[in-house]
Amino acid sequence: MYDFHIHSDFSMDCKYLMEEMVKASIDKNMKSVCFTDHIDYEVGKDKIDIDFRTQDYFRKVKKVKYKHLKDIDVFAGVEIGMQPYLANRYNKLINNNPFDFVIMSIHAIDGTDIYFDNFTYGKSPIDAIIEYYKYMYQCLLSFENFDIIGHIDYIDRYFENSSMVPDFSEYSFIVEDILKLIIEKGKGIELNTAGKRYGLDYYHPKIDILQLYKNLGGEIITIGSDAHSPEHIGYDYKLAEKLLKEIGFKYIYIFKERKKYPIHIS
Ligand SMILES: [Zn+2]
Ligand SMILES: [Zn+2]
Repeated sequence: MYDFHIHSDFSMDCKYLMEEMVKASIDKNMKSVCFTDHIDYEVGKDKIDIDFRTQDYFRKVKKVKYKHLKDIDVFAGVEIGMQPYLANRYNKLINNNPFDFVIMSIHAIDGTDIYFDNFTYGKSPIDAIIEYYKYMYQCLLSFENFDIIGHIDYIDRYFENSSMVPDFSEYSFIVEDILKLIIEKGKGIELNTAGKRYGLDYYHPKIDILQLYKNLGGEIITIGSDAHSPEHIGYDYKLAEKLLKEIGFKYIYIFKERKKYPIHIS
């Protein structure tokens, strides 16, 4: 099992040490895990940077990595919160640091955080969702320096209630454009199992999107729990793998030094 999306106390919203997260990963029989702590530049109206000192980060990852080398492979990734005008800043960050893996996520739209600033509130759900995906498309056009795009339908979690999420057929045209662009660029997506922990009855992304990605020729996919606490590491991993297999994926991918490696789904 390969959980390629976990957090530690280097993320503002996680209080657990890398050591605690790695120990739990070993207990859960993970073969490898990748820390993908948050860096979100220029969030909110005050354009605050949410980041960490990368020097400390790599030092700490290295420490847990070598301490537990016999039991698990530990990698150092990052989850960046993308906005199109931040491409230069993120390029600088990524080019100057030896990340194994880069997840590009959309957490904010023109500075409005989807969660903290209630981005969808007071908008018609279909307008909000189309604005979100258009923004994701802009992010994809502006930036190349990532490996996969995180929790594609993240916005579904943040409607006032989950019954407000529009029917997929109403906005599948734009998701299709996004998936085509991802495939064309040689990038991937993730199956992020956290959706089920946030009041949805599906993972990110939903089956329609996974199926569409596969039908369009998409192959590159990682599995991540988005764990912010030890008990969520590897959450529903086996079920996620089974789902991918049913949809027709033969491999999941892991990343090391920004290179991808396929792992056959058994
Ligand atoms: Zn995220
Ligand atoms: Zn995350």
